[in-house]
Amino acid sequence: MCIVTEVRTDRVTPGSQTSLREANRARIVSAVQQRGSLTQVELAGTTGLSPATVSNIVKELSAAGVLHTAPSTRSGRRAQLVTLARSLGLVAGVHFGARSMRVALADASLRVISEERMPLAPDHRADVGLRRAAMLVEEMAASVEAGAGELLAVGIGVPAPVDVRTGTVSSAGLLRGWDGAEVGTELGATFGVPVGVDNDANLGALAEARLGAGAGYDPVVYLRVSHGVGGGIVLGGQLLRGRRGAAGEIGHVTIDENGPVCRCGNRGCLETFVGSHVLVGMLAGRGHLTLADVIAGALAGDAGCRRVVYDAGQHLGVAAANLCNIVDPEVVVVGGQLAEAGELLLDPMRTALEQRTLPSAAGPPQVLATSLGAWAEARGALVVALDLARDRGTLGVGV
Ligand SMILES: [Zn+2]
Repeated sequence: MCIVTEVRTDRVTPGSQTSLREANRARIVSAVQQRGSLTQVELAGTTGLSPATVSNIVKELSAAGVLHTAPSTRSGRRAQLVTLARSLGLVAGVHFGARSMRVALADASLRVISEERMPLAPDHRADVGLRRAAMLVEEMAASVEAGAGELLAVGIGVPAPVDVRTGTVSSAGLLRGWDGAEVGTELGATFGVPVGVDNDANLGALAEARLGAGAGYDPVVYLRVSHGVGGGIVLGGQLLRGRRGAAGEIGHVTIDENGPVCRCGNRGCLETFVGSHVLVGMLAGRGHLTLADVIAGALAGDAGCRRVVYDAGQHLGVAAANLCNIVDPEVVVVGGQLAEAGELLLDPMRTALEQRTLPSAAGPPQVLATSLGAWAEARGALVVALDLARDRGTLGVGV
């Protein structure tokens, strides 16, 4: 976290109290936008402003309808929790998974107002999925009585590499029915607001780094282990995307160069060892199982299910160690459905990671479970949407 002890006023007239006050107001609003919600004490710590200055500015911006305060408790003490007021507008976040779509609607403090999950047919076409997403966002906005123009921006996550400059799915064959889909253009035309599109694991990484288990760490590596395996890297608060959005695609790191053929056309990718269809396939003799069944079995003590989860943890640790030796992160956050197995997955992963990362005086990177759960990627889509609204100047912050 960046702690400043003094507000820099290089660009304002020396001695101008008005300009200094404006800079301080902008600093407070920016801190609340970044973190979603903070107590006044936390705001003082983050901005470097005195508690009295924070209190005065929060009072002033609350009266102006920019901020909202509510009583709360932190560490057993009473505190005023500060968020952005809804009057600034709403943002929507959509996460397309392999089998379902999650949509969240939030205010400008990233407080979720409404969230819905809708099943999707396997191998559905992109245009069908996008039409459903548009309908669901409109229905949800109507259900919270959002007025025309209240929706400021939309963030979208898809389980494939995305060229964020064009909002287009940039890898062929990884998401059937979506090759080359111009997601940003199509939904931008539907909503008439800025639309940001990114890989879902990147969005999960961004959400965990800003709001979840990775907050306060840098760099943050995020692994999303579900139907497939995705990854995201956040350096200095920013996503590392690479040329066309394929950076951090840990699912296609080679674990065994003579291993099984992967859907990407290569051999022995991590995904061919820990993808959900592979894990359930290991227990094929027991009839039709889902990944949820395997996780529930492991948590209930079933030896076969535990073995499957343990081996998956080891493979993830090997692949994560390769990534850690390049990125040297402070923390590896594990999300996606398989993370529901908790320590049964993370323990063997830690062991494999520690064995294979270069010894460091700082010790191996921490391995933590997601704190945002199944909604991490949708929350990341909300973060992208809010950043877009702020960058385009559509967020109604008059400071
Ligand atoms: Zn592959």
